[in-house]
Amino acid sequence: MNTVNNDLSSHPALGQVTLVGAGPGDPELLTIKALKAIQAATMLLVDDLVSEPIVALASPTARVVWVGKRGGCKSTPQSFIEKLMITAALEGEQVVRLKGGDPFLFGRGGEEVEHLQQAGVRVSVVNGITAGLAAVTSLNTPLTHRDYAHGVVFVTGHAKPGDTGTDWRALAQTARQAKLTLVIYMGVTGAAHIQSELLQGLSADTPVAIIQNASLAQQRHAACLLCDLADTIGREGLGSPAVIVVGDVVQGLLAVAQPLRAGVGA
Ligand code: SAH
Repeated sequence: MNTVNNDLSSHPALGQVTLVGAGPGDPELLTIKALKAIQAATMLLVDDLVSEPIVALASPTARVVWVGKRGGCKSTPQSFIEKLMITAALEGEQVVRLKGGDPFLFGRGGEEVEHLQQAGVRVSVVNGITAGLAAVTSLNTPLTHRDYAHGVVFVTGHAKPGDTGTDWRALAQTARQAKLTLVIYMGVTGAAHIQSELLQGLSADTPVAIIQNASLAQQRHAACLLCDLADTIGREGLGSPAVIVVGDVVQGLLAVAQPLRAGVGA
């Protein structure tokens, strides 16, 4: 039987890497486990979307390496980040890899765990609240609802180079037939394309919300119908980081309540 040791204080002499989910930005949304790992870290590698107040929770003696695109710099290559983590952990450092939201949702956490394990480094993962969940929750809106949505799909609007990406038409048809909410990450730039593809399977009056900087003081959102998604993003000047939530669960966020479509909420 495989057992996983999640006690971060054991074997202090040995180095290890902990992938920590920093949540959407508000430090109060960190888990206690994440906070303990951050405080115990001797070295932190911090992704772009992690807020500064969270990094400030680290020990003043900890080495902090920002590996995102802050300050207009290009982001650090993934292979370099992984090498840095492996070397530091093998030298005995308590490394925390701090990632926005949850490390295992569009955070390359899976790839990093594989590579760290291949290098013989002890690794553990601490969940964080993912941005899509925090975004709607901040607006008192659920992702599922017994009347409107039987499930939820977290999907990326930005595929790996060379990958054909999401089949939006198929997804739209499934979402309509199975009553699923779509939560689209990294979708703002490609919103016009996503909108036109989703319209092949979902009706034009499907409610949509766009939430930027969820959980932070500068949070903004807009709600509209699917046929107005790209125009609304442009008109409202919404930009990254934002999630797009598609489905009847966000109906209540429309500024002027739209009449419910036949069968919705019945
Ligand atoms: N692992 C992260 C997602 C990383 S991908 C998570 O679980 O949340 C980066 C994308 O996440 C952004 O492009 C955006 O779509 C979304 N995102 C991250 N932080 C956000 C925030 N505070 N508000 C809205 N969207 C956010």
